[in-house]
Amino acid sequence: MADFVDHAHDPEPVVPTRLLAHAINNLSLGIIIFDSRREVVFCNQRYADIYRLSSEQTKPGTGIGQLVEHRRNLSRVRSIPGNDIRERIANAAIAGTTVLELTDGRIISRTVYPMPDGGGMATHEDITDREEMSARLSRQIELGQEHEENLRIANLQFDRAINNMSQGLCFFDAAHRLIVCNDRYLDMYDLQPDRVGPGTPLGEIVDMRFEAGSFPAMTRDEYIEWRTKVAISAEPTDSIVELRNGRTFKIRHRPMPDGGWVATHEDITEQRRSEVKIEYMAHHDALTDLANRVLLNERLEQALNRRIHREQAVAVHHLDLDQFKAVNDTFGHHAGDRLLKTVADRLRALVRDTDTIARMGGDEFVIVQAPIADPAQATALAQRIIDSIGEPFEIDGHQATIGASIGIAVGPGDGLIPDKLLRNADLALYRAKGDGRGIFRFFEPAMDLQMQTRRILEQDMRRALPSGEFELYYQPVVNLASNDISGFEALIRWNHPRQGLVSPANFIPLAEEIGFIVPIGEWVIRQACTTAAAWPEGLRIAVNISAAQFRSPGLMQIIVGALGASGLHPTRLEIEITETVLLHNREAALAILHQLRSLGVRIAMDDFGTGYSSLTYLQCFPFDKIKIDRSFVKNIADNAGSLNIVRAVAALASGMGMTTTAEGVETPEQRDRIASEGCTEMQGFLFSEPLPAGEIERLYLARRAARQASGQIVAA
Ligand code: C2E
Ligand code: MG
Ligand code: MG
Repeated sequence: MADFVDHAHDPEPVVPTRLLAHAINNLSLGIIIFDSRREVVFCNQRYADIYRLSSEQTKPGTGIGQLVEHRRNLSRVRSIPGNDIRERIANAAIAGTTVLELTDGRIISRTVYPMPDGGGMATHEDITDREEMSARLSRQIELGQEHEENLRIANLQFDRAINNMSQGLCFFDAAHRLIVCNDRYLDMYDLQPDRVGPGTPLGEIVDMRFEAGSFPAMTRDEYIEWRTKVAISAEPTDSIVELRNGRTFKIRHRPMPDGGWVATHEDITEQRRSEVKIEYMAHHDALTDLANRVLLNERLEQALNRRIHREQAVAVHHLDLDQFKAVNDTFGHHAGDRLLKTVADRLRALVRDTDTIARMGGDEFVIVQAPIADPAQATALAQRIIDSIGEPFEIDGHQATIGASIGIAVGPGDGLIPDKLLRNADLALYRAKGDGRGIFRFFEPAMDLQMQTRRILEQDMRRALPSGEFELYYQPVVNLASNDISGFEALIRWNHPRQGLVSPANFIPLAEEIGFIVPIGEWVIRQACTTAAAWPEGLRIAVNISAAQFRSPGLMQIIVGALGASGLHPTRLEIEITETVLLHNREAALAILHQLRSLGVRIAMDDFGTGYSSLTYLQCFPFDKIKIDRSFVKNIADNAGSLNIVRAVAALASGMGMTTTAEGVETPEQRDRIASEGCTEMQGFLFSEPLPAGEIERLYLARRAARQASGQIVAA
């Protein structure tokens, strides 16, 4: 090995060359020194080892070019900061570091140190391990960054998710300190965001809530006690909390395994309000705000169960307004509604807090008066109600007077259960209305019997039609001038299997009430048309149509069908209506009247003078005939008023081109009187009672035909 240590510059201590050579050969660094001719001056063992060179190949004097060539076969240059690689290999004396990657995977760092004489030294270091380490490190750093980014994104997503929740959310740890909460939570409890954050103790948050007013109707201690109890119980808890500020929250508390909990807070104020409203609506009448049937039943049941003393009782007043329909029809539905509200107010003013007023629909009310010690208390209340409702009402600047009829049942005597009491009060009401309205009646067991009789009648009536128990009688209508029969009025009779012949007055009102008048009426129209079609031309048939029939759909079709089936000419059919037909839904009734009229059917106003505004109705439809009620004819001889009415109606009718028929003429005097007052027709027992079709045929039609054939007048 050459001596390359410059002893001149380094006088002491002198390191023995052998030792130095040993040290240099054991360096982990490969070292090569070359001269200005580019020939090896010195090369240590490590250099030869790195490039797997023999001592022969690296011996001094070897051209650097050969070594570079050898190296190139073993490696590729990985990175050279700065200069071009080829230049660098060619000029081995240019200072700088090159990293070589050998084909076997080792990485060598080569640094050249040029020397002033044109030669140079190069160190070669196997940095494979270091490089691997650093690669691993940077990979780890990269992974760390990636992880951090993922975490950041996850946090962002979590943040976004919890802050976009419509519910408040908070996590607390086992020490009852806040881990995290969302903005909604802060909002819901009016908490300041800068005062609440991770670590804030539950107690502090509760204090802030008491400051903000977002706490329930409890003291702070009570609230903390309750909240802590929920927090430490390992049970999931759902609670509904009403805050002092009027909001209602639903809190779902869910414990976590580590002793903390997560809670969601949902604002259910609106939902609660609608629930309360729905609940209210389910129990109250929308118009008057009074209790409805459902609530009434509950209250009545409670009242019956709550009677502490045996002598305490419960009175049920069933109230029905008199004349309410007239007000509704005259002033309209809105006015009717206002009237009902005012009635409700008047009733409220009459009862005690323990009593319940309910509207059962329409103009029906029920008052539960409970408790009462004496039935006299019920009498007193009923009378006060009747007096109060009887006071005039002011509607749209008009005065309206209605009345009240009341049926009273007193429990437990008249019934132990709500149904029974209500039913019995209803029966008493039925009696009150029947006895003249504007009065009250207490329930009596006899009423039940009466109602049963009515129910039996109803059942019998429904059976009567298919059994063919109804029959039409016909009463002649006589022309006063010619004394000739102008037609007949069809009047229904019921051949009851047990009761014999039943008058229409005894079953028509019930038939109207239960709607059975519609099928009965249809049968009457068909039967009357069929019978009259067989009569001589020129004889009319009058049929009574009740208001309930007018309200039912299909009346036109029934009449047209009956005319078509019988072949009766429409001009021979006369429809008799009373003013009640025009009392309700006048427009619809008038439309039907006009349709009938356009077919050629004649329209008569029956029982004229018995209603309230007969004259008014004459104005709204051009009737063909007025039938003056029997009551005026009856009194015509000795009552100036009746005479005047007959006279006025007859004059009015003749002025309007209408026929006047006097009903119920029983005596020759009556006949003469009405004839002299200008009536055109009469009907009554004087001439003939209503008779079965066969009798009419035998007594009048056959004789009439015979007499007409011989030129005699019929009714002489
Ligand atoms: P209305 O239409 O006014 O019929 C006249 C009523 O007076 C008939 O009673 C008749 O029998 C009776 N009458 C006739 N002349 C005299 C008399 O000189 N003196 C007395 N005291 N009464 C006389 P009826 O047949 O009992 O009918 C009563 C009411 O029943 C009828 O009154 C009518 O409103 C109704 N009605 C009868 N048949 C029917 C029907 O088929 N359908 C409908 N909807 N109602 C009918
Ligand atoms: Mg009639
Ligand atoms: Mg009549």
